[in-house]
Amino acid sequence: MNPSVIREILKVTEKPGIISFAGGLPSPKTFPIEAFAAACATVLKTDGRAALQYAASEGYRPLCEWVARQLPWDVSPDQVLITTGSQQGLDLVAKVLIDEGSPVLVETPTYLGALQAFTPMEPSIVSVHSDADGIDVNDLEQKAAGARFLYVLPNFQNPTGRTMSEARRQALVDTARRIGLPIVEDNPYGDLWFDQPPPLPLTARHPEGAIYLGSFSKVLAPGLRLGYMVAPKAIMPKLLQAKQAADLHSPSFNQRMVAEVLKDGFLDRHVPTIRALYKHQCEVMLDALKKEMAGLDVQWNSPVGGMFLWARLPEGVSAVDLLPKAVDKGVAFVPGAAFYADGADPRTMRLSFVTASEEQIRIGIKALAAAIREACA
Ligand code: PMP
Repeated sequence: MNPSVIREILKVTEKPGIISFAGGLPSPKTFPIEAFAAACATVLKTDGRAALQYAASEGYRPLCEWVARQLPWDVSPDQVLITTGSQQGLDLVAKVLIDEGSPVLVETPTYLGALQAFTPMEPSIVSVHSDADGIDVNDLEQKAAGARFLYVLPNFQNPTGRTMSEARRQALVDTARRIGLPIVEDNPYGDLWFDQPPPLPLTARHPEGAIYLGSFSKVLAPGLRLGYMVAPKAIMPKLLQAKQAADLHSPSFNQRMVAEVLKDGFLDRHVPTIRALYKHQCEVMLDALKKEMAGLDVQWNSPVGGMFLWARLPEGVSAVDLLPKAVDKGVAFVPGAAFYADGADPRTMRLSFVTASEEQIRIGIKALAAAIREACA
């Protein structure tokens, strides 16, 4: 295990007064506190002793059933494992599927937390070429020999905010099926679309060849530490053993509370409010970028959901070098280099548009543009 240089740099960005586009934090405005207060009281009153007791490693059965019901393919509750955040799903996958030296395929760039979860098992991480539509399937096939799995984030990816196109998804699944490459699909942001839902998950197209990770962090609250994995039945016993060794089970109380909140279609009412907020915040950031970066050779994408956008600095400007200068001007971001297993593009950066307020976004992007102008000069 290695310390992350970026994490060290980011500590500076937590100083009071810094406008941070760096963190991956959902907007706390979206946390349904009243629904939790009511559910908390109900759980304690009706089921308090079980809620505070040790419980089954698989998870609270009504919650497993809810997960199985709401996924858009045929899932049995026996294929659902409740995890301590989807981050734990990544850890369990690593423990079960990786041996020292095993090749593991990832997108370029990919989620830093997945690299952190995989690395202690000493895989050989192989970056697959990717573009605005997601992973390059031809490059994937060339690199896939002997790989334990492909780790992929088709929806509003962290860090780039990109979404894998329908054609790319189908080509990827067809290839994975043909060459027998297992897929680990991570989908914590899938519900946070702005105008229309993303195409069907990869796992829905190939359930026998994929492990799917979901999370309650972005639709309810990350502090609950609750996520889930859906896996083919044959691999469930091993995942369960890894789960038992890790933490016996995810918090029984939180699971019951979430199950109580979710009943009666709560998310159908709640998630649209998150989508509307994030869509608006994204528009504000895009608007500010257009205005403030005028005349600078800075590029960025326009995500159709999620929490992040991806930008590329002018030739010769490194995001790692820019960060302290930007922090001096009161704004922070994550240099993109953190998200590459190898061959990092030093000009890239990740900007979160969800935690800062509208006003902070405008001030922060202006400050960022000033730092870039100085770096260019
Ligand atoms: N996967 C991705 C791609 C993420 O961005 C995150 C959160 N930053 C996680 C997994 C972990 O989320 P959690 O453990 O809160 O479910």
